[in-house]
Parts: sequence; structure tokens; C-alpha cells
Amino acid sequence: VEEENEYIPPGIHIEIPESIENSPYKKEINKGINRIKRFLQKELSIGEIYEKIVREIEEESFSYESFGKVGYGPNSVTIRLTMKSFAEELYKDFPYKPFGIAMGNKVVISVRNILDKATNYDISEIIERIAQHELWHVAGGEDDFYSKGIANPNLTYKINKDEKRRIKERILGIISE
Ligand SMILES: [Zn+2]
Repeated sequence: VEEENEYIPPGIHIEIPESIENSPYKKEINKGINRIKRFLQKELSIGEIYEKIVREIEEESFSYESFGKVGYGPNSVTIRLTMKSFAEELYKDFPYKPFGIAMGNKVVISVRNILDKATNYDISEIIERIAQHELWHVAGGEDDFYSKGIANPNLTYKINKDEKRRIKERILGIISE
């Protein structure tokens, strides 16, 4: 029996699909990943950051099953980027097509959904903001349905100081529990 579901070590794990290499937006996407890393290091003071290149198999979209294959450890948080769009089963309760989804300690960012809608914007900034927003959910934060973020979830998500403080406390708690 193969041990597929080994726990990953404590820390933040960024999973990057190798197909980003073939994207015309490769430069912007990599800049976005670097912005996430800088946020984690500078603003959350997290040193344990791991990066892993993953191969995405040909499926139509990123589904519950794909979520299950994202790296997991009880003391880790995984930020997975995907070049796929999300399967509808993942966002049937959302009033919009999301750029990112958080479940437990896993965050998935659909670069594909971002590129489908936001190429007139700074892709790297959107990737960073979505990562921050989804980490807010990992920290137990709720969406503010009256905020502009919900009316225009793609572009206006910006965490505030209090949210940042809560993210920091919670994430540091998870990776050191
Ligand atoms: Zn949200």
C-alpha cells in the first residue's frame, strides 16, 4: 500500500503548478507568488515557507477531489495555485465565481479564474490580495457581505490592520501547535 497522504511538515506550503511555465502571464504569476512570500515573511514573520512544484493532471476543473490532494499537515497551511477553474460544486453557494477558496487549512487560488477576468489589472497584486483574503478565512474570519469586497470580490479585497493581526496570531498558532 502506497502512503499517499503523509503529513507535510509544520509551516506554510506553497504549491505551484508546473504549467505556469507555459503561461503568457508567467512573469506576473511568479511576481504574485513572490508577493505572497514577502507578505508571509515580512508581515506575519513566518520563516517556515516551503515551495513545491506540482503537476496538474488533465481534469476539467479543480474539484473537491483535487482539494483532497492538496498537501495537508495538522500544523501546516497550504496555499495551492491552480491553472484550472473551480468546479461548480465548490462554489454553488457563492453569489459569484471565486478567485480563491479556503477549506480548513488549505487555500486554493485559481489563476485561471483571475486571468479570465482581470488581465487589465495587476495580476500579481490580485494574487497577493486573494491569498491574504483566503488566509483571513483560514484564521476564522467571515466575509463581510456589505463590503465592496463581496460586490466586486475580484478586485477590492484588501485586508485591514485588525484582520492582519488576527491572521498572524492564528497562522502562527496553527504552525506551532
Ligand atoms: Zn471570502
